[in-house]
Amino acid sequence: MGSKRTRVSRNLGQRVTPAAIEYFREALPLQDKYFRCTHGGKIICRLKAHCDDCARYLELSCQLQLELLLKPWDTNPLNVDAENPYAEDSSAARSWRAAVKLRMELEKIK
Ligand SMILES: [Zn+2]
Repeated sequence: MGSKRTRVSRNLGQRVTPAAIEYFREALPLQDKYFRCTHGGKIICRLKAHCDDCARYLELSCQLQLELLLKPWDTNPLNVDAENPYAEDSSAARSWRAAVKLRMELEKIK
């Protein structure tokens, strides 16, 4: 007979791990600075080494991506604080919606 151990199912919600939440929380306050550095017209970071905050942001963003088992081309939950900009049936839009779901999970767990 089989064992009575409950198998851990791997649905979407369980991809949000404590580590993922930590990365998300630490990255979020750095995001504004990162955007200012890289998109603000005054190119501070892009041509040289990143400043410490930007480097940390990129590292956290990357770790979050890995922790959530996202592929490099999947949308990162850190980047979905706006309207879905893609055509509704595109794969980019599906990836965006999945990231929004993950973000909601990351934000609701206290
Ligand atoms: Zn910077």
